[in-house]
Amino acid sequence: MARIVMKFGGTSVADIARIRNVARHVKREVDAGHEVAVVVSAMAGKTNELVGWTREASPMHDAREYDAVVASGEQVTAGLLAITLQNMGVHARSWQGWQIPIKTDNAHGAARILDIDGAFLIKRFGEGQVAVIAGFQGIGPDNRIATLGRGGSDTSAVAIAAAVKADRCDIYTDVDGVYTTDPRIEPKARRLGKISFEEMLEMASLGAKVLQVRSVELAMVHRVRTFVRSSFDDPDAPGMGDLLNPPGTLICDEEEIVEQQVVTGIAYAKDEAQISLRRVGDRPGVAAGIFGPLAEANINVDMIVQNISEDGKFTDMTFTVPSGDVDKALAVLDRLKAEVGYDVVQSEAGMSKVSVIGIGMRSHAGVAATAFKALAEKAINIRAITTSEIKISILIDGPYTELAVRTLHSVYGLDKQ
Ligand code: ADP
Ligand code: ASP
Ligand code: MG
Repeated sequence: MARIVMKFGGTSVADIARIRNVARHVKREVDAGHEVAVVVSAMAGKTNELVGWTREASPMHDAREYDAVVASGEQVTAGLLAITLQNMGVHARSWQGWQIPIKTDNAHGAARILDIDGAFLIKRFGEGQVAVIAGFQGIGPDNRIATLGRGGSDTSAVAIAAAVKADRCDIYTDVDGVYTTDPRIEPKARRLGKISFEEMLEMASLGAKVLQVRSVELAMVHRVRTFVRSSFDDPDAPGMGDLLNPPGTLICDEEEIVEQQVVTGIAYAKDEAQISLRRVGDRPGVAAGIFGPLAEANINVDMIVQNISEDGKFTDMTFTVPSGDVDKALAVLDRLKAEVGYDVVQSEAGMSKVSVIGIGMRSHAGVAATAFKALAEKAINIRAITTSEIKISILIDGPYTELAVRTLHSVYGLDKQ
């Protein structure tokens, strides 16, 4: 007997027929004698619709009320799955975050899980009950519903798996694993049997939304054995109930991966914007003077490029922010003009960041040069570059995103291995 947490994403519970299919996956594990807890997302498109309504009601709105609205999608699917399971003869009950409780901090709209009462769920296992838990939500110190940020049901699932010390956390989605790049963009992308926590963390942070970043962090810290697998597979096909190696991609320690490639995957993030400050006074403290106030305004600054000034007096400072934050950033910079002392500020939206990820880069030279050459051959202009030990990120014009992803995917041989 094992203890398994199963999470089903939006497309997997998009309608009643799919919820029935999900219930068959759950029943398979229950019939095999396992202790099972389930986490569900809202039906596909539902959260977007709810977010849209809050904006329509008022573009600037109270984050606590945003949470009250957007958390409702998961309540519906938890109830529907519990009904469906009961109808199949499985002892199931739906639970919302506050009932368990899943305690979060007060950052409404992007809350972090602080604590989960694992004993509550373990008691349900003892009763032979399948707890169907609404993902994406918990309860804050203000005693109100808090949501975990977009894609947050992944994090609910991994956090619950850690809290009940589950043997496995299965993230069921609309693809059968983690691919070398987004299979929607590159049909030649290949499924990875395993990927290391570090690489998955980079892939997710750099745009591969197959897992929420925080869920990978939690899986890494609490050593949760996490599989990404497809809910569209036939629930009763051979091998689906394999305890140790179910079909899908295992997120695991680097040491568990025998054949490590130099490059593991390509990720991309659209809707980046570039902001440049021209002729900034080149003196100590100037970067702090700019990026401090931007951080205080909760603006997520990503790539930063500072030119070396020829005369030692002035420099150009270029950085990227999400397109949605440009107006807010420009307002902050406008306020700082006299204090920082710059000539003009220029901004351009519609950029994309394409990233090459691989642990093998630590020990291989020339990975970046290969990317630059391949992009140059396709006449794709590079606007900014950042690198770390295991990734290279390149800022390009948005319309070239797909071409750049496919070009990089092929130049590192990811479509062939
Ligand atoms: P869910 O609703 O199940 O949470 P998401 O839409 O959040 O599903 O995540 C699954 C999607 O992530 C896939 O349909 C795929 O388009 C996208 N994706 C992006 N990068 C990757 C990748 N490297 N491997 C697999 N899927 C990826
Ligand atoms: N329904 C939420 C969202 O769309 C959470 C999730 O699906 O993980 O962001
Ligand atoms: Mg998701």
